[in-house]
Amino acid sequence: MLERLHFDNRFTAELPGDPERANYRRQVQGACYARVAPTPVAAPRLVAFSPEAASLLDLSAADCLSEAFVQIFAGNRLLPGMDPYATCYGGHQFGHWAGQLGDGRAINLGEVVNKRGERYTLQLKGAGPTPFSRTADGLAVLRSSVREFLCSEAMFHLGIPTTRALSLVATGEQVVRDMFYDGNPKREPGAIVCRVSRSFTRFGHFQLLAARNDVELLRRLLDYTLRTDFPELRAPDEETYLRWFAEVCRRTADLVVGWMRVGFVHGVMNTDNMSVLGETIDYGPYGWLEAFDPGWTPNTTDADGRRYCFGNQPRIAHWNLAQLGNALHPLIGSAEPLNAALETFAERYTASWRDMMAGKLGLQALDGAGDEALVADLFALLGADETDMTIFFRTLGALPITDEAVGAGFFNDAFYSPATIGEDHAARLVAWLARYRARVAADALPMQVRRARMAHSNPRYVLRNYLAQLAIDAAEQGNYAPVHELLDVLRHPYSEQPGRERYAEKRPDWARNRPGCSMLSCSS
Ligand code: AMP
Ligand code: MG
Repeated sequence: MLERLHFDNRFTAELPGDPERANYRRQVQGACYARVAPTPVAAPRLVAFSPEAASLLDLSAADCLSEAFVQIFAGNRLLPGMDPYATCYGGHQFGHWAGQLGDGRAINLGEVVNKRGERYTLQLKGAGPTPFSRTADGLAVLRSSVREFLCSEAMFHLGIPTTRALSLVATGEQVVRDMFYDGNPKREPGAIVCRVSRSFTRFGHFQLLAARNDVELLRRLLDYTLRTDFPELRAPDEETYLRWFAEVCRRTADLVVGWMRVGFVHGVMNTDNMSVLGETIDYGPYGWLEAFDPGWTPNTTDADGRRYCFGNQPRIAHWNLAQLGNALHPLIGSAEPLNAALETFAERYTASWRDMMAGKLGLQALDGAGDEALVADLFALLGADETDMTIFFRTLGALPITDEAVGAGFFNDAFYSPATIGEDHAARLVAWLARYRARVAADALPMQVRRARMAHSNPRYVLRNYLAQLAIDAAEQGNYAPVHELLDVLRHPYSEQPGRERYAEKRPDWARNRPGCSMLSCSS
């Protein structure tokens, strides 16, 4: 089947590329991409593949286990129809305009059209330098590739838009990384993930063209994006551009609401890490909330400003969208309609967030100031005494609503220090539970429906940071079984999985301060 994959590369067919074919670092002007081949690797080994991502390409498990597969997705072999290239984009990093960035270690292999006529771009991450690699090596290490692979698929199974991960291949080569930028470089095993998405176009693709005042190419890229990924918006004119921008605002709002629902912190929400499709993209120093804390970020590179901490994500998404809006200004000619479209974000975010919270609490809808206070008081409680967000909500879904004797102890599994929960805190939680019970009783949802709604809003299994780290530790020793097991657990995040309870437990104490479990950097 691999040989029969049907490639139809519209991005390179319809958009201008850099005429220069040599692979050296440079500014690429007047082009959306530069052709570049993956760098072959010594001894590739398949670590894992995702059967669900493979099925998007009509590939079977047998295809993915073949020798051809590992060679192709290590970048050692091209299939007929592949036409590899790296794309050109810019972006704001930590709030500052960074100029040209581009795919410094991502190479698109081409676009596959599957049996259903759906189009997917295949992209290798870590397959060697490109014209956009700047001062870096174009490679990726196993630790961050395991994280990207697992989290992409976990996010998909949670029902949150994301780029997908088809494969994870160890290259058999070593890569030097200074994990915490503290003068301690080490050799680490290299790896390559093949990502799959309908499009990898980022806010930064438009931003760079606008910053260079290349209005003609800006328009071409947007018209191309409309044709390929937003065909429902039709005619490319000013009205359509504004409707498109509003649609990106809506999708981004829903995306961040999804993250807030499951306790995901992206970690590096630079504008070059924002997909115009509203997908989660670029899994770097991301993390999952353990003890609820809006100020938490796993990214040590961001420890001072905490720009990208959990609670800031909606505000940052809005800021990033404003930058995309600025990039569209040359096509619209005035700021006012863009600002009006940008309002879509706040409106949609508020509405989606309320729906989401109603789901988490098992209510039909949030209703008025009383419900707002109920939610705010709950989050204040969760933040006050190290309470695991995921376990708390899952436990809340099992709360016997009519049994008023149930107290704070019911939530012991969610407390990081159950022995030290003070009487005060326990009493506040019990008081909150009484309000919650009354609110549920007043809601018209039948109990079964409420429970089902909560079970689908509150995952049992998420990719806890320490679980990912344990899988990485094993993979670095050549044992890939824990990666497979974790991938399998995360395929059914909302289901009870008897025998796999340990994957749903709170972070053990040894992992509290261990690098990789609680601290990550952009070094990957
Ligand atoms: P990130 O922080 O991963 O979103 O990366 C920001 C920019 O740096 C993007 O243009 C990446 O392609 C580039 N980049 C990150 N790591 C590497 C690397 N090891 N080699 C080349 N480029 C990289
Ligand atoms: Mg990036």
